[in-house]
Amino acid sequence: MSVAEIIVDVPTMQTNRPFEYEIPDSLAEVVVAGMRVEVPFGRGKRKIQGFVMKVKDKSDFQGKLKPITRVIDLKPVLSDEMLKLSYWLADQTYSFQISCLQTMLPSVMRAKYQQFVIPVVKDDPEVQALLSNQDSLEITSSLDDQTIRLINKLRKNNKVDIQYVVKNKAVQVKRQAVTTDLNVIQLHEAKSKLRANASSQIKLLAFLADHLQELPIEYNVLEKDYGISRSAIKTAEKNGLLKTAEVTKLRKPVGITPEQTTKLALTSEQQVAVDEISQAITKESAQTFLIEGVTGSGKTEVYLQTIEKALQQDKTALMLVPEISLTPQMVNRVVGRFGDQVAVLHSGLSNGERYDEWTRIENHEVKVVVGARSAVFAPLDKIGLIIIDEEHEASYKQDDNPRYHARDVALWRAKVNKCPVVLGSATPSLESRARAEKGVYRLIRMKKRINNQTLPHVQIVDMRDSENSAVKGDFSPVLQTSIQETLDNHDQAIILLNRRGYSSFMMCRECGFVLKCPNCDVSLTYHKDLRRMKCHYCGHEEPVPNMCPNCHSKKIGFYGTGTQNIEQQLNDLFPQAKVLRMDVDTTRRKGAHAKILQQFGQHKADILLGTQMIAKGLDFPDVTLVGVINADTTLSLSDYRASERTFQLLTQVSGRAGRAQKTGHVVIQTFNPDHYAIKDAAKQDYETFFKQEMYLRHQSNYTPYYFTTLISVANQDEGQTLKQAYWLKKQLQTALSKDAILLGPSPTMISRKQNKYYYQIIVKYKHEPKLHERLLEILNETQADAKKGFTIAIDNEPQHID
Ligand code: ADP
Ligand code: ZN
Ligand code: ZN
Repeated sequence: MSVAEIIVDVPTMQTNRPFEYEIPDSLAEVVVAGMRVEVPFGRGKRKIQGFVMKVKDKSDFQGKLKPITRVIDLKPVLSDEMLKLSYWLADQTYSFQISCLQTMLPSVMRAKYQQFVIPVVKDDPEVQALLSNQDSLEITSSLDDQTIRLINKLRKNNKVDIQYVVKNKAVQVKRQAVTTDLNVIQLHEAKSKLRANASSQIKLLAFLADHLQELPIEYNVLEKDYGISRSAIKTAEKNGLLKTAEVTKLRKPVGITPEQTTKLALTSEQQVAVDEISQAITKESAQTFLIEGVTGSGKTEVYLQTIEKALQQDKTALMLVPEISLTPQMVNRVVGRFGDQVAVLHSGLSNGERYDEWTRIENHEVKVVVGARSAVFAPLDKIGLIIIDEEHEASYKQDDNPRYHARDVALWRAKVNKCPVVLGSATPSLESRARAEKGVYRLIRMKKRINNQTLPHVQIVDMRDSENSAVKGDFSPVLQTSIQETLDNHDQAIILLNRRGYSSFMMCRECGFVLKCPNCDVSLTYHKDLRRMKCHYCGHEEPVPNMCPNCHSKKIGFYGTGTQNIEQQLNDLFPQAKVLRMDVDTTRRKGAHAKILQQFGQHKADILLGTQMIAKGLDFPDVTLVGVINADTTLSLSDYRASERTFQLLTQVSGRAGRAQKTGHVVIQTFNPDHYAIKDAAKQDYETFFKQEMYLRHQSNYTPYYFTTLISVANQDEGQTLKQAYWLKKQLQTALSKDAILLGPSPTMISRKQNKYYYQIIVKYKHEPKLHERLLEILNETQADAKKGFTIAIDNEPQHID
């Protein structure tokens, strides 16, 4: 008899370990590690899903084992590497192993799907008998074990294959969509002729004029995302203003098919990087490289040529980029070089598309995977190289359980696959740069831009100056003049509106003063429900000031403007300029992001206005001006990484200017012109910033000098939450040495979400060997409380503290 060790789909602490089950003889050859099966669980007749972690000959268990009732997959969905990874991941992230296993699976396997047997060798008699002359056979729970065994045998002999089809996505769906023959001017004319009370028609025409390049747009999307009703569409159609078209849902991601590119002759700095990394690939050394390369230094070409190196050695390559829809240019460059050998994975794909890509990887049809965070679990084997571009990006850390950082997973996989990891950034995270300083990572610096192009000239505009504070809108005279010059030269401009942390902090418009916590050196956050200013670290609170404590001006207040407002100001100031706006509202539709960038790239607009999403990775030769409306918002985040985030953002966005032959010019508007993060970003001087920031982190005991763990408690009853939080703190104290720092409990930014109150405790420590164990015990002990509605979350090295 053989036995399977199974992780069951019951996310509790008590069940967070493998359970043994008997493999019935009828399924003897079929059940292997990495498959999902159905097993009885508990006393009743309940059957649940589980992952087979291991198959072995006998059990140490004394009693009688329950048998597996049926197999869910006919081939393993997770490789041995992934199974092994799940143990490590569960331990590292304080999560249930079942959640880790689920996270690694492509989402299609978590959705509703059908499984089919499809023939590979059609004229095989056994295959024909199995399929009884049909094109495929659906695998259902009613198939007997004998048939399952036959399918399994045929699959192992490559005579049949198993295919998953996502329900509802299997058929091509036709959808009703809106399009129009009118151009922008005609639409605006038609709009002006409408009666003033025809508000839904006015809205519809304005929308069409704004989104002309994205047509046809589905009825559904208009209705759901933009609140445009079907009757409004019908009325406009009757009046000849628009037409209805049928569109077929595409299985392939929308985007531009890139042109094929070939290897570029490397600069000497690029050559050094390519040589070093190539050596590590050849030597199969799991070394980590940190490429600190100024914007425009040609990091991408280094990635491409080292990927090529890995492929030449018959290996595969994994490349992670921050949420991919944000950098279509990057994807195009990789696809442009490696064509069909590339699979792209990102959150914008439908389940069906995701499954297609996943299958291509699993079937070894592709050699290169480009994807966002979760692509780190791509089922590639023989990985020869892992690249993480923009390694400092917070989106590499998952905000939910399991709270993993893609960089850590990548390092783990690199060790197992014996391959190097390349972290690249113009503004590395302090953690990574500090590791390079200690020699844990190999530092490669690329200091020059391609073609010795000079770094852009950066001008800091002090918004406290009288001529600036006298302006009515948000554009200083300097920025206005610069935009005008850019337009006169027929060049392009990128305008950044910094929206992180927007309007939750207080700043004085007279002197730039930001209200900070007296204990923690982070800014205080406005809590709407309490109408008080609070610190997220230590819980310090004070009333909302009505006068600046620094200069006694009354101009202290919340700070922030929306993108639409800025767009209007641009239209008023430069009526002849065409402005594209990119923010969450204009990019909600799939592919909208890529389309806006495409239009801008084709110079169909003069100004690209956007939020943080335009700061990264864009490479447009005609962009000579970058303007930053409000540099200060990130600076005032109530997070110790505020300066780092500001420096990164400003450096990245400045790097968008003057990338080709033309010299770039950057205008940064700020109320804190003397802040080192702003001054160093203006000089694109990462090293100076690094030293200063490291000094301050050292002074106030933050990362990378201290590790940070954040523990949060939530419950519907505020009193109970607080009580639990204090209990937790006491528990932690017993396990910690005197050197550890315990902060809180303090309420989180939005202390009440979905009727639950959130409190958090922060542990800062250097070396606390008992902490990990103690936290696991606490999770265990508090399991019973989960039933009373308590949720406890543990976040190692949180990216935001809010
Ligand atoms: P980074 O990612 O470091 O900001 P990119 O990789 O975007 O820089 O490179 C900047 C520009 O230089 C791109 O347009 C790229 O095509 C070009 N480039 C890169 N390497 C070379 C090279 N060796 N020769 C010529 N042009 C290059
Ligand atoms: Zn002031
Ligand atoms: Zn504080």
